[in-house]
Amino acid sequence: MRTIIEPFRIKSVEPIYFNTKEERQYILETADYNPFLIHSTDVIIDLLTDSGTSAMSSNQWAGIMQGDESYAGSPSFFRFQETIQQITGMPLVIPTHQGRASEKILFSILGGKGKYIVSNTLFDTTRANIEFSGAEGVDLLCKEGKHPSIPAPFKGNMDVEALKNFVAEKGAENIPLCMITVTNNSGGGQPVSMQNIKDVKEICVANGIPLFIDACRFAENSYFIKTREKGYENVSVREIAKELFSYADGCTMSAKKDAFANIGGFLAMYNEDLALQCRNLLVITEGFPTYGGLAGRDLEAIAIGLNEVLDENYLQYRIRSIEYLANKLIEAGVPIMQPAGGHAVYLDAKEFLSHIPVEQYPGQALVGALYLEGGIRSVEIGSLMFGKYDNDGNLIPAALELVRLAIPRRVYTQSHIDYVAEIIIEVFKNKTAIKGLKIIEEAQMLRHFTAKLKPIQ
Ligand SMILES: *Cc1c(COP(=O)(O)O)cnc(C)c1O
Repeated sequence: MRTIIEPFRIKSVEPIYFNTKEERQYILETADYNPFLIHSTDVIIDLLTDSGTSAMSSNQWAGIMQGDESYAGSPSFFRFQETIQQITGMPLVIPTHQGRASEKILFSILGGKGKYIVSNTLFDTTRANIEFSGAEGVDLLCKEGKHPSIPAPFKGNMDVEALKNFVAEKGAENIPLCMITVTNNSGGGQPVSMQNIKDVKEICVANGIPLFIDACRFAENSYFIKTREKGYENVSVREIAKELFSYADGCTMSAKKDAFANIGGFLAMYNEDLALQCRNLLVITEGFPTYGGLAGRDLEAIAIGLNEVLDENYLQYRIRSIEYLANKLIEAGVPIMQPAGGHAVYLDAKEFLSHIPVEQYPGQALVGALYLEGGIRSVEIGSLMFGKYDNDGNLIPAALELVRLAIPRRVYTQSHIDYVAEIIIEVFKNKTAIKGLKIIEEAQMLRHFTAKLKPIQ
């Protein structure tokens, strides 16, 4: 097979600033071992997130110039609305400034004390918004999804049996929503199969529970269905996406992911009543329903991006480029989540740094080591992000200790990725020198964004 090339040419570039290991040592200490507190100009390759970091196309930039900034009824909104209606089939479209704003609105209405929101795996902001409403978020991930090193085609699937049992135990009346995250960001960027969505939908229908899709990476998930699920080989990704959405009653989306936009999001649904309540909250927190916290130019960029992401040459390159990095690491014996996710490679930190106990945050220690060695910024998805404390103040660890290397869309070339692999392999060879960390300061919610840590000597 021939090399799959980047399906674009570069029209505009940004410089990368290089620094030395000594400088990075100082920067890491000053940032209290938290990658969110490092300045981006001090980072050589930034794999902190694929969110809002995409390179926009020349068409999107042209759309930016065409944005109509009218307060109400802008044609940019109608293009945005029509695009989302075409892709999702959902008639009611509500723009928001990003994904979590959609979540905040949705769960302010559907959440509340005594309620349970069930999911394959809730993303951190989704879980935080659910918990902030007083409700409880429940992850019912399939068994394959819990074993990082064992490959399976759809490790993002929901555990259908566990869902049935949970509904029977808690009562459907206490479950206002089931939410499937595609792809499963917190669970390794793993896809969900169409069959799983259908099976979950059946249980939801039988119990009168609405099903929403967290659609941030709907195109990447649809491409995985095309290449891995029987019967979809010859179906276009656009049609697969349409089918996927057809089983849902609504969706939330961060346009900072598969829409190639630097900001934006939306809610879409069928239920007029729910949409009315959402819009009522929208006007007090985000803005008038035809712009919802966005500028007209953002609405244009999103509408164009949503069509571009369904280009199968792009998706082939995208999925292959992640797999390329994953394969290099697997060959070198580095423990990673397998198979590769759709937007990121996840290092298995528990295995990588097996000499560091989970109470000393091996994932965060690895994040620091990658920065120190090569200026690579990554993020811990483990007990710093999801850990809780029991009544005695002991850590209840997360199920997995992962380090996510999220690849921004259309930003880095193959040689950047080769460099990333070299650094990780070098860190892996010298791993025993890496020390665990302890938290010296933390916030109540989403603590990983601001927590301060220190190496344990
Ligand atoms: C990023 C993300 C969100 C939240 O979106 P923001 O735009 O960052 O607020 C929700 N769910 C998933 C799966 C995500 O990846």
